Amino acid sequence: MNLILKNGRLFDPSRGLDQIGDVVLQDDRIRGLGPDIAAAGPGVVDCTGLIVTPGFIDLHVHLREPGFEYKETIETGTRAAAAGGFTAVCAMPNTQPVNDNAGGTAFLLLRAREFGHARLYPIGAITEGSRGERLAALGAMRQAGAVGFSDDGRPVMNAQMLRRALEYSSMFPVPVIEHAEDLHLSAGGSMHAGPRALQLGLRGISSTSEAAMVARDLLLAEEVGGHIHIAHLSTAASVRLVREAKSRGVLVTCEVTPHHFTLCDEDLVPYDANFKMNPPLRGAADREALIAGLADGTIDAIATDHAPHAAHEKLQEFDKAPFGIIGLETALPLSLRLVTEGRLSLARMVDALTCAPARIFHLPGGSLAPGALADLTVFDPAAEWTCDPALSLSKSRNTPFAGWQLTGRPVYTIVGGRLIPNPALAATPPVS
Ligand SMILES: [Zn+2]
Repeated sequence: MNLILKNGRLFDPSRGLDQIGDVVLQDDRIRGLGPDIAAAGPGVVDCTGLIVTPGFIDLHVHLREPGFEYKETIETGTRAAAAGGFTAVCAMPNTQPVNDNAGGTAFLLLRAREFGHARLYPIGAITEGSRGERLAALGAMRQAGAVGFSDDGRPVMNAQMLRRALEYSSMFPVPVIEHAEDLHLSAGGSMHAGPRALQLGLRGISSTSEAAMVARDLLLAEEVGGHIHIAHLSTAASVRLVREAKSRGVLVTCEVTPHHFTLCDEDLVPYDANFKMNPPLRGAADREALIAGLADGTIDAIATDHAPHAAHEKLQEFDKAPFGIIGLETALPLSLRLVTEGRLSLARMVDALTCAPARIFHLPGGSLAPGALADLTVFDPAAEWTCDPALSLSKSRNTPFAGWQLTGRPVYTIVGGRLIPNPALAATPPVS
């Protein structure tokens, strides 16, 4: 089956490509591309005015299956991913049971093959049950298809455990992904420790609870030589530490979420738990540092930390409600805001959503080169829309961006050569 994307702006930062042209897809591969190489005809999709990039890859999502299917499933989560322009997502292991063995990893891949709207790459737990006590079967999970290891939702508090995980995983090699949080420093907190938390009478989570852990992890990665990937960076101090470590050649990569570079603690709406996530929305200076770090490449990737929760869970009091928000369908327009404001180049934005995630987690995709996987995202950078949680394709509705006027929207997500029109768009013009 052939598919021809006609007259789009072909954009691939990994190859310095930015030109108007056509892409020819054959089966699950990119066959060729260039200016005006294909005529109109069957299988031709008009992409005039649209930007064609390698498929977006989200390094950090929670799909909640198995165990919490009332929040999300592999089917609904990957459908939301495709609607947000993501052709692949990496699924965190904090399900019930935790994905801490080869059987659990294989189960996810099986479910994704049957019900997935986007590719799913499983992340295995570092420790059994993510309890931090005994190292999980990393080698077996790797063999079953795990692309990284993390106890996300929790940090690895025992430094010796993280050290061993880094040593072990460097043999494959895959990254160890740290949710950097010193639980003693953050205990009982529900938002960023600062004047705003005092004002609202909520216990704070200090910036140091993250940065201290980042510092420890960087020292361990430097000593062992393993690849540490820091999840959802949120503080200026963390950015500074990673920048310094990278300059000395430490094998460290990291990600930032759209909500952390869009909002700060001042934006928090009192009593609305859709503004509660971990790490929390930080101070305005932290947000500035995150944007600068993303722009200069200190922060490699944009990842959503898509964390669905049911309405009744988020309707609890702020300090009792669970952490986390959904993010797959708003990532592109929130990222484009930085480009429009002149804070981020389009090349860096696309790199952070596509090429960089593929590169740092050793995943297929992230390229428009002939022969590459036919995973592509086609988006309209000028499409204006209003964020209405009721229309989300996720099973959950927990977003702080309800009612926001957004600009930029995926029109087509192409996974393995299969065209998925954005179901949220009224007009879905199609393959002629
Ligand atoms: Zn986390």
